[in-house]
Amino acid sequence: MVDLKVENLTTYFFTRRGVVKAVDNVSFNLKDESWGIAGESGCGKTTLGLSLLRLIPPPGRIVKGSIILGGEDLLAMDEQTFKNKIRWRKISMIFQSAMNALNPVYPIGYQLAEPLIYHYGFSKNEALNLVKDALKEVKLNPSLIYRYPHELSGGMKQRVVIAMALILKPEIVIADEPTTALDLIVQSQIINLIKRLKWESKISFILMTHDLSMISEIADKVAIMYAGKLVELGPSEQLYNDPKHPYTQSLLAAIPRLRGEKKKLIFIPGSPPDLIDPPLGCRFHPRCTHALPICKEKEPPITHLNDAMVSCWLYSE
Ligand code: SF4
Repeated sequence: MVDLKVENLTTYFFTRRGVVKAVDNVSFNLKDESWGIAGESGCGKTTLGLSLLRLIPPPGRIVKGSIILGGEDLLAMDEQTFKNKIRWRKISMIFQSAMNALNPVYPIGYQLAEPLIYHYGFSKNEALNLVKDALKEVKLNPSLIYRYPHELSGGMKQRVVIAMALILKPEIVIADEPTTALDLIVQSQIINLIKRLKWESKISFILMTHDLSMISEIADKVAIMYAGKLVELGPSEQLYNDPKHPYTQSLLAAIPRLRGEKKKLIFIPGSPPDLIDPPLGCRFHPRCTHALPICKEKEPPITHLNDAMVSCWLYSE
């Protein structure tokens, strides 16, 4: 059973310009579900994913919080134990942009075989046989093991990157913008593939994207991030039908509708804040049409509403 508990996770980047507060006090508990994490570019989704894998590049680091998976404290482990026990074995990632995630000078079969050799001590031939099965899983021809990444189309490369994330049969797979730069037909094929894998393998996917319509296809729950904060979290259906946070409401209103009465397209005024110097109080207040005087002074607490949670003064007592 998957039980991932994240408490007050805080990841900062210490740059020359100042401290970028990329993920700030994020808490959640994921249990045997697939989630979508949505928000604009720069809201902290990728940093959150990399924090879960302890892959934050310098000058960034996790400064506070805990990540507990199945009762084990992942931040208390030394790097070697984490590498041997957790990274790729229990939590893996489909990295953004398949083009950059694959090594251009190695055939893809050898790249996929590497984790099997490192983690389970398989011989090269044994590992390559398992790689062929993994390629079939993602509907690719096993003969592709001898091909180099540049010989594959964008959609094929994305399937290879998905096979790579699944090769050790992890409990959790983080998919960071898995359909970016793919055309619409290939996008829908990749979404259907993730949906099938979710049902067949019982893996918990954490899908990170700005595309709310894609999340609705896959996720049991949706979390909305804004400027490094988790501002709303709830079951997908509830969040899509009855969004609580003004930011979630605006994101959903900004999706063009093909059916029903024609309406003027809504957009969110302004732009996300500079995370070196985010606004005081609620970070969304300069763009929020419902802002109260307190929103500019104090950070809103988390309010629990049945199965959902929201961080907004409109719901706080
Ligand atoms: Fe808007 Fe205030 Fe709620 Fe922030 S806390 S979303 S500014 S109403």
